[in-house]
Amino acid sequence: MSSILGACGLNCSECIGYKATQSNDPEAVAKVAAEWSRYFNIEIKPETIYCDGCMVDSNRKSRFCPQCEVRKCVVDRSIANCAYCDDYPCEILTEFFKEAPCIQGRLNEIRAELGK
Ligand code: SF4
Ligand code: SF4
Repeated sequence: MSSILGACGLNCSECIGYKATQSNDPEAVAKVAAEWSRYFNIEIKPETIYCDGCMVDSNRKSRFCPQCEVRKCVVDRSIANCAYCDDYPCEILTEFFKEAPCIQGRLNEIRAELGK
């Protein structure tokens, strides 16, 4: 499966919500909803799990995508992801690196390819 990068550089195609969506298996989606409900200690309904990737042109977005500050910023700037941003790495993103350290290396690789 080819990678689908989110606005922040996370690999959406590795996300269990994305995988369950693509499997077209309602039971797999319900399982993810139950797992995330436990993890985040909130009720997450299965219908809010469906997602094709946060920057993919599709109506299926997880409940987390519209709330994400990084995604909002990337969409406002009309860029593909943070690697393309002239203000990289900003404060929001630097904070996010602490939660998801893998994205920093990925974004830096893209920037190197872009000659940034
Ligand atoms: S919704 Fe936010 S955290 Fe999730 S992949 Fe997109 S930019 Fe990253
Ligand atoms: S300002 Fe930060 S969050 Fe927004 S696109 Fe640039 S690096 Fe990403």
